[in-house]
Amino acid sequence: MNLQELVRPNIWSLKPYSSARHEFEGQADVFLDANENPYGSVYSRYPDPLQTELKEKISIYRSIPTGNIFLGNGSDEAIDLIIRIFCNPGMDEILILPPTYGMYKVCADISDIKVKECLLTPEFQLDLAQIKNSLTPRTKLLFICTPNNPTGNLIEPGSIEKVLQVFNGIVVLDEAYIDFAGPGQSWLDKLSRYPNLIILQTFSKAWGLAAIRLGLAFAAPEIIDLMNKVKPPYNVNLLTQQAALRSLSEYEAKKSREISEINSEKMRLMNLLEAREEVLKVYPSDANFLLVKFSDPHYVFYHLRNAGIIVRDRTNTPLCEGCLRITIGTPKENQLLIETLNSMV
Ligand SMILES: *Cc1c(COP(=O)(O)O)cnc(C)c1O
Repeated sequence: MNLQELVRPNIWSLKPYSSARHEFEGQADVFLDANENPYGSVYSRYPDPLQTELKEKISIYRSIPTGNIFLGNGSDEAIDLIIRIFCNPGMDEILILPPTYGMYKVCADISDIKVKECLLTPEFQLDLAQIKNSLTPRTKLLFICTPNNPTGNLIEPGSIEKVLQVFNGIVVLDEAYIDFAGPGQSWLDKLSRYPNLIILQTFSKAWGLAAIRLGLAFAAPEIIDLMNKVKPPYNVNLLTQQAALRSLSEYEAKKSREISEINSEKMRLMNLLEAREEVLKVYPSDANFLLVKFSDPHYVFYHLRNAGIIVRDRTNTPLCEGCLRITIGTPKENQLLIETLNSMV
């Protein structure tokens, strides 16, 4: 793979904005370089544009060098940046594999990038022959979500491996739900083998920090450098950096307990749902939600909604006809879900 050939020429030659805090890296006591208010509070100074302390913590936590880490305002920012770095508007294409996460297409549409779609198989796995047929010389990016949203399943590693070998562009593996999938499922430890691989993770799901907006991208240092070049200078604010540092040092055990509880609730809910008459199928899930096919999904949706329980209607999504996506809640919330279903006439 030749990275320069994949990157938009204007991005390759871009001279990034150089912020005051970026240019000066030594020790100093008096900062008169950034037009900040000198009387301000702990928040008066611009934050570290490259989030050095946080990346060092993540580096240890995920056993990956800091040079392979990008941090963004949610993984949604990473998705947008990747599209803008590699795809020339009005010319290039991305390939997505529905049913899948909606942001890949939205970000591409905003940037006027053509979106090609290649359905997953009925088992929600990669259709390698179709993927091969859909690739063109203009295909810059291929998005694979594993575990996949909204279907919940992991994508077979062997088929991802094949894609990484046959595709000359960038493969983006979205691992937003990887912490629910058990150990050994992430591709992170194989990253150094694939110069064309970008792995996305997030603090929004297992870490329970959706509100702080912190997403991660892992890739070869050359790709990380491009992302840092294109991002807004202070894209991860200080409050977010501090909250994430605190979670990494204090709440890891809590997070692990919650993952275990969510996974055991998932199995309990799966069994209860499968036994129900109106449930046609509960798909296996490696994530923190279940995709459930109902005989009358709209009736179930409105019945739940009237009881104050909101689930995600996926009935208009290809291969998900009749399906609702149900996030695993607390045991109490899940019980309420079941009792509300019991009260349906
Ligand atoms: C929830 C989710 C994300 C997370 O996005 P953030 O911007 O980090 O909150 C990313 N990818 C998928 C597939 C998701 O479902």
